[in-house]
Amino acid sequence: MKYNTRNIGIIAHVDAGKTTLTERLLYYTGMIHKIGNVDDGNTTMDKDIQEKNRGITISSAAISTQWKKDDNVFNINIIDTPGHIDFAVEVERSLRVLDSVVAVFCASSGVQPQTENVWFQAEKHGISKICFINKMDRIGADFFAVLNEIRTKLDAVPLALQIPIGSENNFEGIIDLIKQKALYWIDENGETIIEKEIPENYHLETNEWRMKLMETLAEFDEAFFETFMNSEIQISEEMILEAIKRTCQSRSLVPVLCGSAFKNKGVQPLLDAIIDYLPAPNQLPSINGKDAKTEETIELERNEEETFSGLVFKVVIDKHMGKLAMLRIYSGNIKSGDTVLNVRTGESFRISRILQMQSDKTLTIEEGKAGDIVALTGIKDAKTGDSLSSIERAVLLESITIPAPVIRVS
Ligand code: GDP
Repeated sequence: MKYNTRNIGIIAHVDAGKTTLTERLLYYTGMIHKIGNVDDGNTTMDKDIQEKNRGITISSAAISTQWKKDDNVFNINIIDTPGHIDFAVEVERSLRVLDSVVAVFCASSGVQPQTENVWFQAEKHGISKICFINKMDRIGADFFAVLNEIRTKLDAVPLALQIPIGSENNFEGIIDLIKQKALYWIDENGETIIEKEIPENYHLETNEWRMKLMETLAEFDEAFFETFMNSEIQISEEMILEAIKRTCQSRSLVPVLCGSAFKNKGVQPLLDAIIDYLPAPNQLPSINGKDAKTEETIELERNEEETFSGLVFKVVIDKHMGKLAMLRIYSGNIKSGDTVLNVRTGESFRISRILQMQSDKTLTIEEGKAGDIVALTGIKDAKTGDSLSSIERAVLLESITIPAPVIRVS
């Protein structure tokens, strides 16, 4: 069985470029056809515009998009994640339903407090992360300084997968340390990536950072250590990729990429990294629930064969469709017409439609499967935090609780 899904959140301090980056992610994945500009207030994620024109987008709390990689199509669900811990309930509910995060940093401001808070909150939930150092074109941009701050302020071990070619006004492209290629974006919309040999004046720096990448992987990943120490083994790209994936998913290392969302540089490699390193829902440990009848703790496998269980993480009112329940499905599957149970109320209801939320429209889908994020119509009395299950087996999932803010003493 294939689970080609990634459920991600994007966390950032205000102004780091989360809206711009999200917009570009939607553009390169084909969800939107024109790049908007936050400064003109016409991006998909822009709140005012959303409220005015689309209503659904922001209130839906999640957008689904697709990215094609190596002939496979992956579903990426971007779950709205507020950057500020003041929205503790919002942060908590999104962290409950997403599987990993992309942390966006401004290359000149570095690691800022709002990201710090949500980062530690995500850490508490055991969520894997990737960092994107944005605004490499901005005055004062310093990729290496931000790497250092990830280490010192976030207690994480950053693993640079790229180094920038130039910075500020001279930010030209990226050196991919795994492929050992220089990547340039030549057209205005950043659609064409040109792969070139690494410029000569970057040879030394590239070798140094590639060596650092390998050594760090060897330090944190036993399998890679064996390979690295064995001079008879030629280390392949695949081996490096697998080691990064393991260390990212065990949260011992955090892959770091860079670019400029605004200048349309570096976004496609980030999409690839989301697929390559972040976990698919079925790669995560089984989920704990409580049998509502016997009160016994049960473990549910995150696959379609398992009994259905899901968590309502937001209820939204849509002008046209009425009440929608945003649901994360953890196990099993549901089809429109199925009758499911709201474990809290003890009432069952028939699902009339299952929807997938896209950036500017909703798509009716036949079924929702373990790992998916969908919206349901036909729900009665559902509230945020409600567990839905099959009527045969009532499973109560841990509800959404408000966490205490993480206070760091430095
Ligand atoms: P958010 O608050 O994190 O959602 O940030 P926005 O996406 O709204 O961006 C904040 C400001 O930074 C806007 O003026 C953007 O145009 C600008 N911005 C975003 N990304 C970049 C970038 O890569 N380079 C530069 N120079 N500016 C950027």
